[in-house]
Amino acid sequence: MLKGKTALVTGSTSGIGLATARALAADGANVMLNGFGDKDAIETERAGLEKEFGIKARYSPADMSKPAEIAAMIATTEKEFGALDVLVNNAGIQHVASIEDFPLDKWDAIIAINLSSAFHGIRAAIPGMKKRKWGRIINIASAHGLVASAQKVAYVAAKHGIVGMTKVVAIEAANDGVTCNAICPGWVLTPLVQKQIDARAQASGQSVREAEIALLSEKQPMHQFTKPESIGALAVFLCSDGAASITGSAYSIDGGWVAQ
Ligand code: NAD
Repeated sequence: MLKGKTALVTGSTSGIGLATARALAADGANVMLNGFGDKDAIETERAGLEKEFGIKARYSPADMSKPAEIAAMIATTEKEFGALDVLVNNAGIQHVASIEDFPLDKWDAIIAINLSSAFHGIRAAIPGMKKRKWGRIINIASAHGLVASAQKVAYVAAKHGIVGMTKVVAIEAANDGVTCNAICPGWVLTPLVQKQIDARAQASGQSVREAEIALLSEKQPMHQFTKPESIGALAVFLCSDGAASITGSAYSIDGGWVAQ
């Protein structure tokens, strides 16, 4: 379906981003990977995608907290592949603390990486999409884009912001063949969440498994993690012809979290 199209997934060296890049590649898209990590492991992943799916894959080390690097990454993608058709804004970090103790540098970093990076990426990518009359922008928000939890002021503010940004972009691009949607996952077992589980286990004296169950049952009626591959599958659907008129939506994939 996406053969001949190019997708850029920010933060695709791990977790949800990697699974989404893999799903888009499996559907035929060329992919630009991005994110931090071990150089050799990233190269193995990049080459593996090319071999497994017969597509072209490149990697950009752009830092999503740096606007100039984001703009340069979009320009490089367009130059390297001829176009950028699918932009998945996924890179994200977390920090947990109450507001009075929230470190200023963590606030700035979370707003920059989880929110402003999507603005910079969309701003640079949308002119080409509008010109070609086809584009798919997918913002990986969170259940925390729709509801709040204590101790996550920067994350919740950024994720609510990205859901709002999604709606504005959808309205502006509505008649240019470009859709913009948000995906709002609940708990997905990735390194970002593993850190929170480990911290809980350590603080409470529970086993890691007990901390996992406590974390899930506190928020989700469904006591299981969403698989990163399921987020990838939803992203592929949002790129399909069947989703051509879905725009400005915030799709929950959260085991019933925000249904309560
Ligand atoms: P992860 O830690 O596995 O992956 C994060 C990715 O972002 C990595 O590739 C990392 O290198 C990259 N990254 C971080 N800072 C960066 C920077 N400055 N520049 C470039 N890349 C950077 O996390 P994940 O759980 O896969 O999270 C991915 C997205 O999904 C995030 O936006 C997160 O908020 C969102 N999300 C995750 C969950 C969950 O339960 N895991 C739930 C809802 C939403």
